[in-house]
Amino acid sequence: PKLNIVILYGGKTGEHQVSRVSAGSVIRNIDRSRYKLLLVGIDEEGVWHLQDETELEKVIAGSDPEIQPGNEVNAMPGRGLGVNGKLLKIDLVFPVLHGTFGEDGTVQGFLEMIGLPYAGAGVLASAFGMDKVKAKELWRKEGLSVVPFIRYSRQDHEAQEVTPEVLFTRWSSELGAPFFVKPCRAGSSVGISKVRRPEQLAQALDTAFHFDNDLLIETSINAREIECSVLGNREIRSFPPGEVISSHDFYDYSGKYLDPKGARLEIPADLSPASTQRIRNMAEEAFKALGGQGLARVDFFVDRDSGSIFINEVNTMPGFTSISMYPKMCEAGGLSYRELLNELIRLGLERHSERS
Ligand code: ATP
Ligand code: MG
Ligand code: MG
Ligand code: MG
Repeated sequence: PKLNIVILYGGKTGEHQVSRVSAGSVIRNIDRSRYKLLLVGIDEEGVWHLQDETELEKVIAGSDPEIQPGNEVNAMPGRGLGVNGKLLKIDLVFPVLHGTFGEDGTVQGFLEMIGLPYAGAGVLASAFGMDKVKAKELWRKEGLSVVPFIRYSRQDHEAQEVTPEVLFTRWSSELGAPFFVKPCRAGSSVGISKVRRPEQLAQALDTAFHFDNDLLIETSINAREIECSVLGNREIRSFPPGEVISSHDFYDYSGKYLDPKGARLEIPADLSPASTQRIRNMAEEAFKALGGQGLARVDFFVDRDSGSIFINEVNTMPGFTSISMYPKMCEAGGLSYRELLNELIRLGLERHSERS
């Protein structure tokens, strides 16, 4: 019999649209002779809606999944999910969600509580991975190199009596200029600015504070951007790293999703065998340090001048279209998109059975 898989997409996040595109790709590529799909869309208010068969057919025909209202999904703690008080038959939930309330441990904790197996990283690794400051602090303790950074909160900001010009002088003397201003928990480059001049700082802070109360101010590295896919629960495997070659000032939201010429992916990346091995090892270690399970894309900077390798961040639910970096790097390592989906489902079921 087929396994009943819920594809969860959308969400109350800056990456709502990206999630719909990723989910469309998962739905079209998953082995439908093995899995029966139930589509559940989360709208921008956070309400869950079960979609009917016609929506599934439309997605299979090529469109991105929509979120049609009508059948609100309810939690039935300890039992699963229902519609109108009727329990849905579900074997596993596949959250194809990026960013807040999806990639940050919240939906993972919710699924643990209602008692459903799910694909992808668990609560701890998701939460840690989403918090760029916490993740960097942890990696630094583990002896993995990260770029110099400062944490800056809204509270600090409101208590400051200083002008952006003074802040710019302070930060650029500590971190160098330009530097990056980022929301601590976000993704797809939303809210991120590269600050070169004092007059750019006020706007950069505003933009970042729109997405989070905590920010990360970080040294800008003149670097090649290398990414590495990792997969597994207890045994972690890594795949040949890839390189993102951005044609923009940096790999920003528009370079990722809007401008078809915004970035070129080179897989595998042109690296020496020694650097390749080092990056793969660091990726596995970084994931293990977070208690990772399921999958992650670990992003690196390789300094163009010194050759130093820094871990930038992990994404526990990276962009997941069939042309996205994560599945492409798995493919380069011999694991097709369809097999990758099988494996993620298997890993999710395995973790669940070991816990219950
Ligand atoms: P993702 O979509 O991968 O989740 P994100 O929103 O979590 O992205 P980052 O990966 O931290 O954000 O940064 C986005 C991009 O900004 C990087 O890919 C890189 O191009 C640029 N960038 C960020 N930090 C730095 C840095 N310290 N030095 C140089 N470039 C940087
Ligand atoms: Mg990220
Ligand atoms: Mg991300
Ligand atoms: Mg990134």
